[in-house]
Amino acid sequence: MNGHHVDHVSTTTLSRFHHHLASHDIVMRLISILDSAYICHGYPKREYLDFAHSHKGVFRNRSGEVRAQIDSSLPVLMKGEVYQSTIRTTDCAFVADSPLCDKCKEYGPVLRSTYSRWLGKSTDEISKFTNNRFLTSPQKKTKLKQLQETVVHERRERMALSQQVERLTSTSGIEVESSLHQDLFSIMKDNSSKISSQFPEGTFRRLFWEQQFQSALKGPKQMRWHPTMIRLIAFFR
Ligand SMILES: [Zn+2]
Repeated sequence: MNGHHVDHVSTTTLSRFHHHLASHDIVMRLISILDSAYICHGYPKREYLDFAHSHKGVFRNRSGEVRAQIDSSLPVLMKGEVYQSTIRTTDCAFVADSPLCDKCKEYGPVLRSTYSRWLGKSTDEISKFTNNRFLTSPQKKTKLKQLQETVVHERRERMALSQQVERLTSTSGIEVESSLHQDLFSIMKDNSSKISSQFPEGTFRRLFWEQQFQSALKGPKQMRWHPTMIRLIAFFR
């Protein structure tokens, strides 16, 4: 897929940018200097990527030209979450003065409606907020199916994240003395409401926090503190 994708972008701003700069490090450094600049995050949501994968990674317009595609050249940050791949338009500006460049912003409604059609939605918008009374029977079925898919997908994602957290703590977690354990744990307890509001449910950070909290409950002997968690706690203090 990647070889494919390079061919398609060869004439875009994006690829010119890639060819002219030696490495992503330089890009990252440049970005950090320009504090008003952003790397366009495109559309990194999982459902759009799944959708793109089912279309060989590209989206075409009615005349068959590629309008947008999967780009995995650089991880992107959106609302505090890091994504390894995203969907960008072929004319994406890449560096922009807002988190989403104008070209990608313009493409948003097209992407959303294409995605809805793909999901088998009817043209009138069925959202999860639409009251069921207003839905026809096939629409109800479609909505139910969408909800089921979302649940399955979220559950799978959550399991993968938990395993990741588990691996992380078993390889780099450390045991601490009982008194330090108590100190760390009490700071954790004092800040749990702050964490709930700052780290959204289902995110890696939230799971990491919860997993460490659950282990801490079991006492100092059973607990392996991850250095990152200790740093985070120090920050809250
Ligand atoms: Zn863009």
